[in-house]
Amino acid sequence: MSKFPADVALVVIDLQPDFMPGGALPCVDGDGIVPGIAALLSQRQYRTVVATQDWHPADHASYASQQPGQLPFETILLHAQPQTLWPDHCVQDTPGAVLHPAVDWTPADLILRKGTRREVDSYSAFRENHGPDGNRPPTGLAGWLHERGIREVHVCGLARDYCVLWSAQDAVKSGFRVKFLWDLTRPVTEANDGMVREALAKAKIAIV
Ligand SMILES: [Zn+2]
Repeated sequence: MSKFPADVALVVIDLQPDFMPGGALPCVDGDGIVPGIAALLSQRQYRTVVATQDWHPADHASYASQQPGQLPFETILLHAQPQTLWPDHCVQDTPGAVLHPAVDWTPADLILRKGTRREVDSYSAFRENHGPDGNRPPTGLAGWLHERGIREVHVCGLARDYCVLWSAQDAVKSGFRVKFLWDLTRPVTEANDGMVREALAKAKIAIV
């Protein structure tokens, strides 16, 4: 029996080994949230569960290795928008890109892969980052959730200051009530926590 009403969905963002300590692009204490998220799924607390998976081609444009003279964590303009450059991470079909093996993903209704196009990054589960035409193409997740009657989305996972934040903001713009499961997220950079709280407050997203 689900703890939450049927119109509430859990969206787990990018819980993948490359974002764990020791991985290619580690979040601070990223593995600290794995048991809690595993419990949410095993206890079937949500009737609808979505997991996203960062899933890049090996020559992805967000990798510093693909931008001559650039280092990881530097920012460039990509399609006229600021783009942080990352270490190579979550390369398709590599061990670091799998959904975290300590979680039983059986209850997941949808596994959404993102960042699959070489030239565009995708932090959010709902929209890719800006593409060459200046637009942020939808992933289709909003429609998938709306068609299933979902009204409220709870987000958790990695990283708090990028993919989870962007997903939460886009979920609001897509018409959902949103709750941010703060203790089940971890940041790439802890110093961003203040910025994240401000951004969530501005978007009227509840931190729970
Ligand atoms: Zn990525």
